[in-house]
Amino acid sequence: MTSASYDNNNIFAKILRGEIPSHRIYEDNDTIAFMDVMPQAPGHVLVLPKAPSRNLLDADPVVLAKTILVVQKIANAVKEAFDADGVFVCQFNEPAAGQTVFHLHFHVIPRYEGTALRPHSGRMEDNAVLAAHAEKIMAEL
Ligand code: 5GP
Repeated sequence: MTSASYDNNNIFAKILRGEIPSHRIYEDNDTIAFMDVMPQAPGHVLVLPKAPSRNLLDADPVVLAKTILVVQKIANAVKEAFDADGVFVCQFNEPAAGQTVFHLHFHVIPRYEGTALRPHSGRMEDNAVLAAHAEKIMAEL
């Protein structure tokens, strides 16, 4: 393995342990999904396996397979909830590729024809807005 090792104190590990709050929209035995606090568009969700891995490069393939099924479920719910034209799914590996939190996660972001995305890790959204967006998505699950 050429990447650095997993840090148990990364922010998503803390969210998974319930030490930091999040606007959770989905959870099963292996996977969790919650609202991104700095959404690149309204309805920006992060989907994570619960098992620790730094990113895609060191993830257990079985875990990855389970995670992508949830990504599909969330992508459909987000598209419906936000009446989007499309859905952007992306995932960064290591800082050179744009990764800033080192627990594997997939971004699920509604997209509209002719509307640009806001910057990655940009402005922090209000809690009330994130809560309302989470409700909208959960209503489609
Ligand atoms: P990446 O590691 O793929 O570059 O992105 C990490 C994502 O996590 C960013 O989109 C950022 O807005 C989001 N993020 C960073 N800290 C927190 C946090 O404490 N809670 C939540 N829900 N999202 C976060």
